[in-house]
Amino acid sequence: MQNKNYDIILSGSGMAGLSLVYRALKEGIWKNETILIIDKSRKEKNDRTWCFWQQEAEVSDFEQVIFRRWEKISYFTNSGLHLKLQNGAYLYNMIRSIDFYEHVLNFICQFKNISFLHEEIISIDGGEKFGIVKTTSGNYTARYIFNSVYKKPELKSHNQYFLQHFKGLRIRTTQFKADPGEMYLMDFRTSQQQGATFFYVLPLDKNEIFLEYTIFSKSLLEPEEYDLKIKEYLTEVLEINEYEILESEFGIIPMTDYNFERRAENVINIGVAGGDTRGSSGYTFTNTQKTISKILDSFKNDGHPYFKDETISTKHKLLDATILKVLDENVYNGEEIFSDLFKNVKAESVFAFLDSESSIIQDLTVMRSLKAKHFIGPFIQVIHQKILGR
Ligand SMILES: Cc1cc2nc3c(=O)[nH]c(=O)nc-3n(C[C@H](O)[C@H](O)[C@H](O)COP(=O)(O)OP(=O)(O)OC[C@H]3O[C@@H](n4cnc5c(N)ncnc54)[C@H](O)[C@@H]3O)c2cc1C
Repeated sequence: MQNKNYDIILSGSGMAGLSLVYRALKEGIWKNETILIIDKSRKEKNDRTWCFWQQEAEVSDFEQVIFRRWEKISYFTNSGLHLKLQNGAYLYNMIRSIDFYEHVLNFICQFKNISFLHEEIISIDGGEKFGIVKTTSGNYTARYIFNSVYKKPELKSHNQYFLQHFKGLRIRTTQFKADPGEMYLMDFRTSQQQGATFFYVLPLDKNEIFLEYTIFSKSLLEPEEYDLKIKEYLTEVLEINEYEILESEFGIIPMTDYNFERRAENVINIGVAGGDTRGSSGYTFTNTQKTISKILDSFKNDGHPYFKDETISTKHKLLDATILKVLDENVYNGEEIFSDLFKNVKAESVFAFLDSESSIIQDLTVMRSLKAKHFIGPFIQVIHQKILGR
């Protein structure tokens, strides 16, 4: 068994871990520290597609790997109403994970202070001076550990735990008739029997599209059910009968009101494991980048990675918890909620809300667009549970 000590350990090198080490090295913050990156995967596969919106004037830290960008964003209700969303200065960006992994790994491999270990992590424990990561080969200690290995938390009886589960296909076809410059953020023209269910459509060019069948519910479907629904949507809604499947992906994102621990002594949780996922939408990419900015600012200003103000504010967590409770009651279903929202609120306000950047006025606009009578009871329950600890 090995026993080695480092200044910094990255436990997990997916989106959050690699973003952190890449940005820290780019900014020259971790020049002299010894850094160990542990992950069971070598990140050699295109295993997911990350999308996020961004204001036109903003520049992402991962600008070089943005694969496509859309200015036009649409939404379809279950009854087929087509809403062209008012996204203002927001563009919708897509990154293929393989491009991200290759770009980041090529950059960080040049640094002599970085070591990699491709092994199963067994446990991660914080300490006052040293944290310890146990793997199948040994014990690795460090002053700071950044953990992004997710474990389903132990929930309290009042916690909601939805799964956002989806199957995505990249297909080639000559039968795609819609505008390749317009993406469908949510297309609810599919059965709503399993929970809030929609398609997400990203035209890559006029002959290639990426589409995802997505459900918010508490259990998964049988694998063939995703394929069946995708086929049905392609033929009946998009009127595409002939296509070649180029790639596929399957994903599950937890949508919960569980309050994730950001820090346990010198272990700092980041990404999904650190609570950077919005409970009401599953979007994680932008929040993780914001958390990383806070960590790097702390290193620059105070010489340590700890920060006070959480990326997703208490206000936004309470609103997400309320939305999850309403979804759970299913009196006002997901399709109705999102349709009321996008019919009545400009998408730019919804995006600001989901980025935790909305003002009270924008929050009120979001809440007023929805049927208040279904939210009052769940909101009061959430306040009792969260604030009063019940
Ligand atoms: C298919 C898919 C698509 C998504 N699309 C979007 C999107 O469009 N926009 C958005 O905002 N969010 C999206 N998300 C949510 C979120 O952004 C991603 O899950 C993102 O990858 C989370 O980053 P992370 O670093 O927290 O976790 P991951 O990227 O999953 O990284 C965790 C790492 O830990 C490693 N690991 C886990 N267990 C162990 C172990 N025991 N030992 C060793 N290594 C281990 C894994 O191999 C992995 O590399 C998506 C999620 C999925 C699954």
